[in-house]
Amino acid sequence: MTIETDYLIIGAGVSGLAFADELLTRTDATMTLVDKRSAPGGHWNDAYSFVKLHQPSVFYGVESMPMGRDRVESRGPNAGFMELAEGPEIIHYFHSLMRDRLLPSGRVRFLPNCEVTKDGRIRHVLSGAIEDVAVRRKTVDASWYTNAVPRTTHPNFTADPAVTVFAPNELPPLVSRFEHFTVIGSGKTGIDAVVWLIENGVPADRIRWILGRDAWFLNRAYTQPADAFFETTFSSFAAQRRALAEAEDARDFALRMEACGAWLRLDPNIHPDVFHAATLSEGELACLRQVSDQVRLGHVTHIAPDCVTLARGEIEADPDTLYIACTTTALPPAPIKPVFEADRITIQMVRSPQIPFSAALIAFLEAELETDEARNALTMPLPLPDTVSDFIQSLWPDMLNRYACSKHPKVRAWVNASRLDGYSKIAAAVGEEDTKRRAILKEVKEASIAAAGNMEPLIKSISSSS
Ligand SMILES: Cc1cc2nc3c(=O)[nH]c(=O)nc-3n(C[C@H](O)[C@H](O)[C@H](O)COP(=O)(O)OP(=O)(O)OC[C@H]3O[C@@H](n4cnc5c(N)ncnc54)[C@H](O)[C@@H]3O)c2cc1C
Repeated sequence: MTIETDYLIIGAGVSGLAFADELLTRTDATMTLVDKRSAPGGHWNDAYSFVKLHQPSVFYGVESMPMGRDRVESRGPNAGFMELAEGPEIIHYFHSLMRDRLLPSGRVRFLPNCEVTKDGRIRHVLSGAIEDVAVRRKTVDASWYTNAVPRTTHPNFTADPAVTVFAPNELPPLVSRFEHFTVIGSGKTGIDAVVWLIENGVPADRIRWILGRDAWFLNRAYTQPADAFFETTFSSFAAQRRALAEAEDARDFALRMEACGAWLRLDPNIHPDVFHAATLSEGELACLRQVSDQVRLGHVTHIAPDCVTLARGEIEADPDTLYIACTTTALPPAPIKPVFEADRITIQMVRSPQIPFSAALIAFLEAELETDEARNALTMPLPLPDTVSDFIQSLWPDMLNRYACSKHPKVRAWVNASRLDGYSKIAAAVGEEDTKRRAILKEVKEASIAAAGNMEPLIKSISSSS
């Protein structure tokens, strides 16, 4: 049997689902979504139960279906900020999307436990059976950003059999059995594990945190896309653009972002060079800072019951320790390529740092624009940043995409109404009579123009120092 379909979508994570959802709204095309996993939702299916979005739910997921209920968190370190969906809620959202919208349309087929092979066939991963597929329009690669998560990857260090090392998924059931906890990893997962321990009442002096590399974090106070936060959010956007306009190099830019409150770091005495767009509130930062046993001796290589060996030294350890391995790099830097090609679409980030919005915009352009040349002109892919320098360089295509979209009336109208964009809708709703908010938006515009003017010298200074 050959499967026939207009679009073959590889990967049913948020990239594939946000693309399928928008294409379903805009066209009468048929689609086949294929995923190696047994359920839609991508990496969220294997995330630890206490995982939360970095960003408010209000602008995550797919365009047609709201996530969350526009609530404000009432307790914990994010109190006062817009709600962040937790792992089970995210999974439930993607199940509902598949069950209640995509499948009942009669135009979407979902093939779980299947992979698309390099030669474009479908292989059932449990039986090994192979099926051919005839794609009438395009193959959509929504697996470009396939996330690695601790549960499905092995730690990059070894441990004696007597040592207990688990992914953070096992932390809630095991927490009461151990006296000491060592969290290994300084990314979003490591942060979540430390905050979870503190929030659940584990005394900070029983926690050790091994940090590979220090990073800058986005301050959650300024990532709040709602009318109630308009003044703080958009005034911060203006300040961030001024930081970009005035920066002389990557280090200077980071310090200016910190000075205007947009970026945070764990230790004011350490200047990080990493930036992965992880978001933290000052409340979460205060939790993290309670842990004074912070180890910065490079990567762990081996754990014995009484000793941890790292790249730059050894430290004593208590045998009654649960090690929580948060060392997986979720999104390692990936190469970039044109989004639209003759018979292929490769979903990549075209708006920083918004993968779901990027996927939905790409689907909108596929449906509404005539040529791949016109579509590619609005969607230059952004390299995923590892360092502050990378991030600055990714801002240039980001700015060009935003500008090009704003000049195309049909695309601008879609962006201004988009749930996944988050902010444009709020800016577009400001009336002529609202002079205070108009003045803030004018500041953002002027600062953005100044920032665009500084991009060439700034990128040159980064290139010459690397
Ligand atoms: C802890 C954590 C928190 C995060 N929080 C946020 C956030 O708040 N906001 C945000 O924008 N981003 C966040 N991210 C980033 C995350 O990358 C994106 O939100 C998004 O989930 C990526 O979705 P994806 O569909 O591109 O990748 P995935 O979710 O990894 O899905 C890709 C899917 O493709 C499948 N696949 C791969 N190859 C094949 C093949 N050959 N055949 C069939 N199937 C295949 C995989 O099985 C997988 O299910 C977070 C990431 C992590 C790890």
